[in-house]
Amino acid sequence: MLGLMQDWPLLIHRVIDHAGAQFGTREVVSRSVEGPVHRTTYADVRARALKVAQRLERDGIVNGDRVATLAWNTWRHLEAWYGITGVGAIYHTINPRLFPEQIVWIANHAQDRVVMTDLTFIPLLEAIADKLPSVERYIVFTDAAHMPATKLKNAVAYEDWLNEADGDFRWAEFDEKTAAGLCYTSGTTGNPKGVLYSHRSNVLHSLSLANPDCFGLSSRSVILPVVPLFHANSWSLAFSAPMYGAKMVMPGMRLDGASIYEMLETEKVTMAAGVPTVWLMLLQYMAKEKKKLSTVERMLIGGSACPRAMIEAFQIEHGIDVVHAWGMTEMSPVGTCGAVKAQFADLKGDALIDLKSKQGFAFFGVEMKITDDSGKSLPWDGKTFGSLKVAGFAVTRGYYGVDNTGLLDDDGFFDTGDVATIDANGYMQITDRSKDVIKSGGEWISSIDLENLAVGHPDVAEAAVIGIAHPRWDERPLLVVVPKEGRVIDRDSVLRYMEGRIAKWWMPDDVQVVAEIPHTATGKINKLKLRDDFKAYKLPTT
Ligand code: ADP
Repeated sequence: MLGLMQDWPLLIHRVIDHAGAQFGTREVVSRSVEGPVHRTTYADVRARALKVAQRLERDGIVNGDRVATLAWNTWRHLEAWYGITGVGAIYHTINPRLFPEQIVWIANHAQDRVVMTDLTFIPLLEAIADKLPSVERYIVFTDAAHMPATKLKNAVAYEDWLNEADGDFRWAEFDEKTAAGLCYTSGTTGNPKGVLYSHRSNVLHSLSLANPDCFGLSSRSVILPVVPLFHANSWSLAFSAPMYGAKMVMPGMRLDGASIYEMLETEKVTMAAGVPTVWLMLLQYMAKEKKKLSTVERMLIGGSACPRAMIEAFQIEHGIDVVHAWGMTEMSPVGTCGAVKAQFADLKGDALIDLKSKQGFAFFGVEMKITDDSGKSLPWDGKTFGSLKVAGFAVTRGYYGVDNTGLLDDDGFFDTGDVATIDANGYMQITDRSKDVIKSGGEWISSIDLENLAVGHPDVAEAAVIGIAHPRWDERPLLVVVPKEGRVIDRDSVLRYMEGRIAKWWMPDDVQVVAEIPHTATGKINKLKLRDDFKAYKLPTT
């Protein structure tokens, strides 16, 4: 017997309809690319998203078409996402930090028909436009006054284009499993792979991760997503913030410590979300200028392992609760969050920081397991590590436009490529990415653990560990460090600091000081490049 409840398809435009109806006056504040701070509301975002949809339809964009966005976090980018999905088309986010050849590859693979972009990226697009035959039109997120002359095909200023619509439009109707968004993983090895979100997966994911143990969003929250809309589906904040009526503060293109600090303070932000690299810049700025944050209560940190020293700095020095989250593009993207379960409510000091250093537990809609090489499930004892595999309503079952044979295991789980432990309380801890773990004498050394420890040294700003070939042990760890501004790193002092805090055989064989560690387009340490930089290097122990 079937239940007698209504079918109410989980479509993305229902989110902005809800925000418009219930939180219509709640603000979306952006640092515009043109310069000034811009203020709008959810009611207005909805009204303009309807115009985007109407205008796209007039340009012949239909269900299933890909519309690329290559843009910073601003209100225009947000309303474009809702407009694109409102006609059943697909927002395809492109990360502008990728190499131009990668952008060309991705846009051609996706067969984008339209590109929406910021003023910043016009030169980049002009340089590659003749290699993008599928693109029929470029829409620049600006007004007529700021629109430069450009040779981009059918280029138009977004505001002019939008003004040609009156907004008298009804959202298209379609199945909730319809594709909504396309985001390519950065493809540090091989070609990038397209993850294709559906309306249903985006809505369910946003509903679920906003729970109090994870993002904890409410109509009283003010959230600053430093994480770009073009990175991993914006951690779903483009949907979950309007869904729960949280005010959004969009940083635009200025992500340095001073600019982010200013936005956090002037807009009375209560929580912010971003990768550790960004928070490192903010902490350095606050330390230098002797500044504190007066309204931020919670920092959502993920994308790569949050160093213990960073958790301590926020929790202890600044009294800000850190929620360490883990996920990946393929998971829409969040999988776990590190809230404190009831049994740990009394934890203090180091024990609390230990708990927060783990990547947390899965929220509803995410199932996890760790397995050995034969696919057998391993125990949740906090010690045994294995391949981390996941299943759920917002986990990929196949990449766009490629053969996906064998992608999922027999139980339908997706292999994350991470190696992890899970403890008896369900807390997961990433040991490493399977391709970064250092294999020494048949045992594994976690590069993440060594990096986290090294950045606790007072002179070290950033650390990366890579495996270097060793005739006896197969691989041994090399620690690469960047000094804090105005400091000099003494190799032996770093090693002395690490001694006793890790197993003896985990100790790096050498320390190399560099001015800068290479990063990927998503702000993570680029180990591939780093390994290449050190390809001729020989360990003193060989
Ligand atoms: P990309 O691979 O393009 O940088 P993703 O965001 O999809 O983009 O990367 C996901 C990977 O990032 C995860 O598989 C994991 O290795 C790493 N990661 C994400 N969050 C964390 C975290 N909190 N701690 C450790 N690693 C993390």
